[in-house]
Amino acid sequence: FLGHRKRVVFWEPLLTLRSSCNCLDASRPWLCYWILHSLELLEEPIPESVASDVCRFLSHCQSPSGGFGGGPGQHPHLAPTYAAVNALCVIGTEEAYGVIHREKLLEYLYSLKQPDGSFIMHIGGEVDVRSAYCAASVASLTNIITPTLFERTAEWIARCQNWEGGIGGVPGMEAHGGYTFCGLAALVILKKEHVLNLKSLLHWVTGRQMRFEGGFQGRCNKLVDGCYSFWQAGLLPLLHRALHAKGDPALSMTHWMFDQQALQEYILLCCQCPAGGLLDKPGKSRDFYHTCYCLSGLSIAQHFGSGDLLHEVVLGVPENRLQPTHPVYNISPDKVVQAVMHFLTKPVPSATEETATD
Ligand SMILES: [Zn+2]
Repeated sequence: FLGHRKRVVFWEPLLTLRSSCNCLDASRPWLCYWILHSLELLEEPIPESVASDVCRFLSHCQSPSGGFGGGPGQHPHLAPTYAAVNALCVIGTEEAYGVIHREKLLEYLYSLKQPDGSFIMHIGGEVDVRSAYCAASVASLTNIITPTLFERTAEWIARCQNWEGGIGGVPGMEAHGGYTFCGLAALVILKKEHVLNLKSLLHWVTGRQMRFEGGFQGRCNKLVDGCYSFWQAGLLPLLHRALHAKGDPALSMTHWMFDQQALQEYILLCCQCPAGGLLDKPGKSRDFYHTCYCLSGLSIAQHFGSGDLLHEVVLGVPENRLQPTHPVYNISPDKVVQAVMHFLTKPVPSATEETATD
């Protein structure tokens, strides 16, 4: 299938939404990100005019009070803010970077910060560990991290790690792949991975790769699901790095601590729709979310380190090889460097202390 990937026409859904997509009306920056990231993994170039259209569309989703909403005129929310910033960094042009209003974005993040270090997802909304990741991701890419923005956040995330070893949405909840990825990736950005029990996290996540299917489940006793190819397998590069920094002598220098081949078998053989696109498991329909995260997980399973050719494990024909992805931001590593370098030339906006919670 991946050999036929050039035939897939992705542009139509970027421009118009079919009525079956009505339920995604509050996730439109996500559609931009899922599709653009899938294309960069497939090495499919984005036409300049499409990139420019996406920039203009996302600028309409940006709120005058900072952050991005799920569509034009919608209230800002951390999840589409993350998706919009990632999509703009994938595009990576001056026009794309110029869309992001950094001073307002910082004000928006402060308005969501809670006294215990957590963040709410939107004004009046819920707290969970996704918000810490979304905030840390956009703030680090755009160089707006002030000394107080993430005060106590690492300690709050550590409280979400439970007896299973994984991380739940809030302290006391069941360990879950999506929340665990968000919690660890946020801590990597904040350089505070050590607040977690990394060995028990490693024990939990390696137990989530299914013995028969080769893919990952999201939680203990649940079914396999293609999207956890990224949320769970993506934890292994992060854990590898954190354990390496602690000087763990038992670490492999060629492979992640999961069965990279078995995961590729599950994605390639069980998660592909013959008409194009990828899915949760056989019998489910394809969608852009699963297409993005199955491909992202496939990329993690193929590349060790930052795309070092010596340590690639590509199952099947060479055309199955995808571009590497950055395990913290889940966009191309080059695009992460490019965005960071671009925004480093701009000063960190001064904190708006009247909205700060401490
Ligand atoms: Zn899924």
